[in-house]
Amino acid sequence: MQTSSAGKYSSGSFQPIIEKCSGCDRVVAENSSQYCGTFMNPSAKWRLGFCNLATHAKPEIKVVTVKVNPLKAAKRASGRKKK
Ligand code: SF4
Repeated sequence: MQTSSAGKYSSGSFQPIIEKCSGCDRVVAENSSQYCGTFMNPSAKWRLGFCNLATHAKPEIKVVTVKVNPLKAAKRASGRKKK
């Protein structure tokens, strides 16, 4: 977490962070409140799922493995070479 002395965040345009932001490296503490150093409205970033710039949480990415029949793959590869 960074600390800011400028008063940039508490001026009113920045919304305080939400619960889901706690632990993120972009959280900035100012005047006993915590703000996001990147987004003015952190709750909007979480409305549709994970915040895309969150450093502490990432959505689970499912890796789908496609089974390839080695014989068919070899035939396809050799077929492409012939012209
Ligand atoms: S980058 Fe996203 S998760 Fe991190 S503090 Fe800002 S809004 Fe919250």
